[in-house]
Amino acid sequence: QTPARYHLSDREIMRTIYRPRDPFAHKGTYGHALLIAGSYGKMGAAILSARACLRAGAGLLSCHVPQCGYDIMQISEPCAMCITDEDPRYNTHFHQDITNTNYKAIGIGPGLDTQPGTAKSFEHLLSGWQRPMVIDADALNLISVYPFLLARIPAGSILTPHPKEFERLFGPSANDTARLDLLSKQAVSLQIYIILKGRYTAIACPDGAVYFNNTGNPGMATGGSGDVLTGILTGLLSQDYSPKAAVLLGVWLHGYAGDLAAAHLSQEAMTATDIISWLGKAFQ
Ligand code: AMP
Ligand code: MG
Repeated sequence: QTPARYHLSDREIMRTIYRPRDPFAHKGTYGHALLIAGSYGKMGAAILSARACLRAGAGLLSCHVPQCGYDIMQISEPCAMCITDEDPRYNTHFHQDITNTNYKAIGIGPGLDTQPGTAKSFEHLLSGWQRPMVIDADALNLISVYPFLLARIPAGSILTPHPKEFERLFGPSANDTARLDLLSKQAVSLQIYIILKGRYTAIACPDGAVYFNNTGNPGMATGGSGDVLTGILTGLLSQDYSPKAAVLLGVWLHGYAGDLAAAHLSQEAMTATDIISWLGKAFQ
């Protein structure tokens, strides 16, 4: 019997995925994550994803930021370490990072910008890094501009496009059904997870299954919400959740934290920062 292709991702599934912490754990147990994010004027995106990554439970976090972002990151997020690029405004030398430390997970994209130097460094990173990574925002836009990069994405990686980014990557669709087909087809052919974000985010898996997430609300239609998701996913990967467990748990928790924020603050007044603040309650 062929398994059903469409599934609902709900609280019951989360109970089977979530793993309580080992009482004997130390910070090495939960992995060292690397976030490559931020540029001049968009350091907020880097901070949001860094905070979310730590609140999702990463053991250690290093953030690769341009020179202009060093003070900003160090002051905003004392729990994160900071690697400074040679470039004053953009991240253009992050591929060098993977030669030194054995990072458990990499997240790239929030506030990254799409400078030629960033594209080159991304190309080098994809040649040197073979494990699943989280790819979002301007890193997705770079792949749209240089489509040959698509084939170099490590198997099991997680792409998190909103509908515009999805269209830039894979082209337009005539209607929602056609777009879902395209989503699933790309996930299967590239052997990656693609999270098509929006109301009822759709998660396409490399085995052809598609999950619809049942948390989240229009209060999350605000700048920075997606950057928070990237941080959460990177933090879960770093703790050794499988990519499939990380996408299902990460998307669900992100939406649920958003629902808790909206319940306490209103959909209007909540911001992406509040999603991070309610992540703890969502875990509980
Ligand atoms: P981004 O556009 O990259 O900032 O991502 C926006 C995030 O907020 C995604 O995770 C969306 O699923 C979520 N979001 C935005 N609008 C809504 C909505 N109307 N209902 C539920 N989630 C939403
Ligand atoms: Mg985004």
